[in-house]
Amino acid sequence: MSELTIPGLLRVAPGSRPDLEVLDAGSTPGFEGDKEAAEARLKELRTELADFQERLWAEGGQSLLIVLQALDAGGKDGLIRKVVTALNPQGTRVAGFGVPTDEELRHDFLWRVHSATPGKGRIGVFNRSHYEDVLVVRVNDLVPDAVWKARYDQINDFEAALAANATRIVKLYLHISRDEQRERFQKRLDDPTKHWKWASGDLETRAKWKEFQAAYTDALTRCSTDHAPWFVIPADRKWYRDLAAAEILVDAARGMDPQWPEPDEDLSSVVIPD
Ligand code: AMP
Ligand code: MG
Repeated sequence: MSELTIPGLLRVAPGSRPDLEVLDAGSTPGFEGDKEAAEARLKELRTELADFQERLWAEGGQSLLIVLQALDAGGKDGLIRKVVTALNPQGTRVAGFGVPTDEELRHDFLWRVHSATPGKGRIGVFNRSHYEDVLVVRVNDLVPDAVWKARYDQINDFEAALAANATRIVKLYLHISRDEQRERFQKRLDDPTKHWKWASGDLETRAKWKEFQAAYTDALTRCSTDHAPWFVIPADRKWYRDLAAAEILVDAARGMDPQWPEPDEDLSSVVIPD
């Protein structure tokens, strides 16, 4: 993968530590064009993703897991609307992970995500994920330190096992600036059709901005691996966010390269009766 392409530029190299303080959330690495050019390119990428999904389904041998993480108002839902909808819903499942239920809390933290991983030929999208168990859980002190600290290795082992079982994993962190979050929150307050998105807990999370940046930095550093890389997408500009995510997914799709299966019988001699 060329380092100059969007996937190459945004990928967190295994073992490296991204500096989220310095990273400009309004930047557009690897893309020179404007919003219109990005939208035109996105259209092409959506077509390629749709074609990929059909071949993946037909082949029935591999799975794709897309993990989405971001702070509140980071744009996960918008990304799903603008990019993931290119994929046929018959074969794609979006799973959202919120505050765990009592039953989920009685199990290990990977239990609820493992049961939502995509089967062969399928695409799974995690809207939040097992990473919350080293993010919000860490920042809000929901478990003792020793418990969340042990989870990075557990996550890497889990993802390695999925990868060894024909699951391609692509993890996208949508990085927004503090100013952009304030603007998006304000819009939610000003627009009655967005009031439903308002959660007062989001302000408590915003108050812990630095702690969340630190927790994200550790997760990105500890858990970006060759078999399950993290990508940090500057996400203040929605059009770049969508474009970058689509470029990364298409790059993964090309790597997976699912093949149309051979028919079980010789179809050339089949005659359909009148
Ligand atoms: P939303 O994505 O806006 O529906 O919000 C879901 C909420 O669930 C967020 O505030 C997350 O931080 C929270 N959440 C997700 N996973 C966990 C977890 N494992 N423990 C505690 N809170 C979580
Ligand atoms: Mg929310």
